[in-house]
Amino acid sequence: MQIPYQNKEIETMQRPALEELQLKRLREIVNFSIRTPFYKKRFAKVGINSGDDIKSLKDLKKIPFTTKDDLRQNFPRGLLAVDMDDVIRIHTSSGTTGIPTVIYYSRQDLDNWTDLLARSIIATGATKSDIFQNMMTYGLFTGGLGLHYGAEKVGMTVIPASGGNTKRQLLLMRDFGTTVVHVTPSYLLHIHSVLPESNLTVSDLSLRKAYIGAEPHSENVRLKLEDLWKIDAYNSYGLSEMNGPGVAFECIYKTGLHIWEDGYFVEIIDPETGEEVPQGQQGEVVFTNLIRAATPLLRYRTRDLAFLIPGTCECGRTHRRLSRIMGRTDDMMIINGVNVFPSQIEEVIMKIHEVGTNYLIQVEKDGAIDKLIVKVEIYSKMFLGDARQLDGLKGRIKDDLRASIVINPIVELHEPGFLPISEGKAKRVLDLRPKF
Ligand code: ADP
Ligand code: ZN
Repeated sequence: MQIPYQNKEIETMQRPALEELQLKRLREIVNFSIRTPFYKKRFAKVGINSGDDIKSLKDLKKIPFTTKDDLRQNFPRGLLAVDMDDVIRIHTSSGTTGIPTVIYYSRQDLDNWTDLLARSIIATGATKSDIFQNMMTYGLFTGGLGLHYGAEKVGMTVIPASGGNTKRQLLLMRDFGTTVVHVTPSYLLHIHSVLPESNLTVSDLSLRKAYIGAEPHSENVRLKLEDLWKIDAYNSYGLSEMNGPGVAFECIYKTGLHIWEDGYFVEIIDPETGEEVPQGQQGEVVFTNLIRAATPLLRYRTRDLAFLIPGTCECGRTHRRLSRIMGRTDDMMIINGVNVFPSQIEEVIMKIHEVGTNYLIQVEKDGAIDKLIVKVEIYSKMFLGDARQLDGLKGRIKDDLRASIVINPIVELHEPGFLPISEGKAKRVLDLRPKF
């Protein structure tokens, strides 16, 4: 099979050469970041005066981690490494977990970022002949403009649809023959449920690929989307602190996300101890920008949990693969003392055929006891059947959940349209327990 590459030399570079390139860039980025008051102080504490003090990639470990709180405390310019005149764009994070953080981009930063996105798109087998509809929100959120520039660089026809307005999204898809979309998985599930109202079926459209990202999702959601839409869905990962999307992306083999290691140095650590975990073990993902001038971040703790997939990919790329994100360290719910990630619940319910495209996890306090309520939308035709059938389904969902998360949940079944809809990052958990 012909494997599509954008930059074969870099993408298939042998590991020793790739690591040499990383080391060279790491030294440069240390020299750059020392210009910021924040890193100047940090480096002084650990005796780093310039990039020359980094003798090998292992020396990176001398540098303390950077956290989201560091970004917040140094808002707005404590981490800016260039003159404001050289900044040509500002983005912020979505603020899923608090006050957003700001990232500055120089012209070179935007070019580098665009390049990695073009590389990602080409890795999925898309070409300039594709019609690309970008359903991520345009604005300060990086998902809109990021992929937009990457797709233009590939030469695709770009429809900057932005998020929301589902019926219009479908009309755009029909009228312009959209072949590739970039979207959150939760929204792509929702759009499918609107097809009947728009008098459309999947076969009226030309969709072939979806880039799904910006929120955690399970393998069963990918499979469901591929089945509902008859497409290939590729996992797309990024965060504004590392430019935005295009940090790691799946290739045509869809067996984990290649991290573009010439741009990002990755470590997987134990979130408790900060120590690197053994290869292949799950932990918190930590990134260091290797090529960013305006806001270089070193050893940034993402709070995302994943692992590095051992072995090499059939595509011949040497850049290692990240597993899907299992959750965020701050996503974890503790229910009656048991740790549960929303993704574990999703994995179970999305495997069940009768379950539709939306769900919500609610946690409440009942006296001293935590109550987990899983609200699931199921296809309307199920409500036409008899009540026993519904009870049976409810029991099955409950049993499967209990087997997976070791908690006895309350399961509620609802008709499509009952639960709140998300047009961007979905809010799947409603924790109503009092906070002390
Ligand atoms: P915020 O942290 O406010 O959501 P961003 O908009 O930068 O800010 O979003 C980045 C975060 O979104 C990542 O750290 C990760 O938690 C999540 N994310 C992005 N892509 C994916 C993906 N493919 N799978 C799971 N989670 C993802
Ligand atoms: Zn690959």
